[in-house]
Amino acid sequence: MAQSLLTLSSEVKFLKGVGPARAELLAARGIHTVEDLLYYTPFRYEDRTRVTRIRDLVPGQTTTVLAKVLTCGLMRTRTGLYIFDLAATDTTGMLRCKWFNAVYLEKRKIFRQGQRVFFYGKVERDPFGTGNLQIVQPQFEILPESEDASAESLEVGRVVPIYESVGTLGTRVLRRLISAALAGLGAQIPDHLPESIRRKNQLVERGAALRQTHFPDGARPLEEVASFRTPAQLRLIFEEFFAVGAGLALKRRKAKAAPGIEFRVTDGVRQAIKQILPFHPTGAQKRVLKEIADDMCSPRPMNRLLQGDVGSGKTIVAIQAALLAMENGYQVALMAPTEILATQHYLYIKNLLAPLPYSADLLISARRAAEKAELKRRIAGGEIHLVVGTHALIEEDVSFARLGFAVVDEQHRFGVMQRFRLIRKGATPDVLVMTATPIPRTLALTLYGDLDFSVIDELPPNRTPIETRLLFERDRGQAFEFVRERVRQGGQAYVVYPVIEEGGKLDLKPAVRMYEYLSTTVFPELRLGLLHGRLRSEEKEGVMQAFKGGEVQILVSTTVVEVGVDVANATVMLIEHAERFGLAQLHQLRGRIGRGRAKSTCLLLAEEPLSDVAAERLRTLTETTDGFRIAEIDLKLRGPGEFFGTRQWGIPTFRIANLLRDQEILEWAKREALEFVAHPASRQEFEAFVSYLRAHWPRRYGLAQVA
Ligand code: ADP
Ligand code: MG
Repeated sequence: MAQSLLTLSSEVKFLKGVGPARAELLAARGIHTVEDLLYYTPFRYEDRTRVTRIRDLVPGQTTTVLAKVLTCGLMRTRTGLYIFDLAATDTTGMLRCKWFNAVYLEKRKIFRQGQRVFFYGKVERDPFGTGNLQIVQPQFEILPESEDASAESLEVGRVVPIYESVGTLGTRVLRRLISAALAGLGAQIPDHLPESIRRKNQLVERGAALRQTHFPDGARPLEEVASFRTPAQLRLIFEEFFAVGAGLALKRRKAKAAPGIEFRVTDGVRQAIKQILPFHPTGAQKRVLKEIADDMCSPRPMNRLLQGDVGSGKTIVAIQAALLAMENGYQVALMAPTEILATQHYLYIKNLLAPLPYSADLLISARRAAEKAELKRRIAGGEIHLVVGTHALIEEDVSFARLGFAVVDEQHRFGVMQRFRLIRKGATPDVLVMTATPIPRTLALTLYGDLDFSVIDELPPNRTPIETRLLFERDRGQAFEFVRERVRQGGQAYVVYPVIEEGGKLDLKPAVRMYEYLSTTVFPELRLGLLHGRLRSEEKEGVMQAFKGGEVQILVSTTVVEVGVDVANATVMLIEHAERFGLAQLHQLRGRIGRGRAKSTCLLLAEEPLSDVAAERLRTLTETTDGFRIAEIDLKLRGPGEFFGTRQWGIPTFRIANLLRDQEILEWAKREALEFVAHPASRQEFEAFVSYLRAHWPRRYGLAQVA
């Protein structure tokens, strides 16, 4: 296909330079069309308008040098460290570059003598050598020998875009492909953003925005380019947030228009709640329950996210809402991510419901086949009013007589599809999803556009804040003594080990081995129990019950205790290899203690040396127990991509927009999107944009139909 016939929807394989192998690499990154490719935007820029001559380098400066490789090779220091060492010259002087542990540079024969290479990084004086200048771990880009002048103009004498590699496709290849695509498209790149929105917000037209974002022409100051604030970049960021904002608003409007169950708060409901409440709800619990009840009593289906930090008391709120549903003659399903949690919930609920005429049961795959079959029959017949379960609840052969209310606990452990499968077990059930993983609030409010949002922002009374200490291997003895002392005083303890993944297999050895060592050598006089995911259900339940009852004093466990386990008498947690856990996970784990009046202590035992990021994670935990604060820091340390994981959150992964950097643009674009959906300038404009979303939304953002 001739380049002049290129359109945004052309497949990338029609681009010059893209063969089947490259097309496959690109596809693996979600880049199928020319449009996809153009939205693969640089993650940073390099100023090569002024490449610094080696003679003019100043220590401390971060800059680009263009030099020829003189020598290079792998060295080994006396301490056994590998260093890849390279010397390069540009005729004005010599520069050394060093990469630590970079055996791959040698193995893959990346550098050769005589190559021309851009090096980018911070210049410093070699502390050991002769005072030579060096760059440690520079970014680099090798220029091929047979480069023609036009291609070179993409690389030198300008602000150059730097792309994240796609498989083996490096930044240079991507730069050339993108440049070719832009050239092939010619002047006309249609703009899907509604004209009225573009005008009102004074946004650059799409074609110009794409060109300038990839290849800034030097009209804007470099700082602006580097911080993604040029009009071109702003337009693309805005466009992405606007599309998501409008899509969510449409989805939500559609959901609100669907018929739902109109529950009624009767005296019976009030009576039942009064009868079972084991304590006075906190102000936050009351407020949230009212939000939920109002939704349930409206003629529209509820879709609500309940967020509350670990231990904030979400369960009882869900149970109260469940009573509202059951008193109205409907069934309730509660889905939890692990058998342990489902079992805990079931036992707790069965106990609470004892004085009421409702039957509850537990559906987990571990139960005997005959029992399960019987249970499913009774669920289908409407004899079971409330069923707690794991994924087993969403299997094909589970059907409800009258499912009116579905609760998903620890929502972040489930995919969006699993939530939908549970919902589809009823006609139009009200849905409550609960999560303890705190999403920074501003983001949640803005991004969970299709869910209503409630927060429990208050802990139950009489909780003493958890104290957290960071210890190292040399403190191990002291840590064990601390645990022993607490247990002697009548408390209980968790000792948690990471599950190590080796060759795709989960290795439980550390927990199992340490359990043996701890029970025979360290705490021979105490009663220990072992809990991990591979135990049979009855075994798990047996250990949990023994821990709850106090027969087991120290529970040695993997992270299976992360969610939902609730034993108020446990006041110490020792986390081994704390440096291997993520921040959010440590926070969740730590939430298992501090559930009673007594003061609780969390000991983080870490192995040195700690990376900077691990050190900051652990320090954060010793400084705060505020889940939201922790989430903000987690987001900062990990970056939004990793923070939100895959599509689990139902939060789209953005391409040019960055949730941390661009929060203000997010607010701005969302306001405009809501306004647009509510009062579009014209019917025609509205429909054009909706059909654009329909075509792009599912693939780009992994969400279901919008309107
Ligand atoms: P989470 O929000 O983490 O799921 P839970 O619902 O498990 O928290 O509640 C944590 C603990 O706090 C439980 O032992 C629960 O019984 C207790 N709890 C919840 N609400 C209150 C309250 N208002 N007063 C006293 N204890 C409460
Ligand atoms: Mg919970």
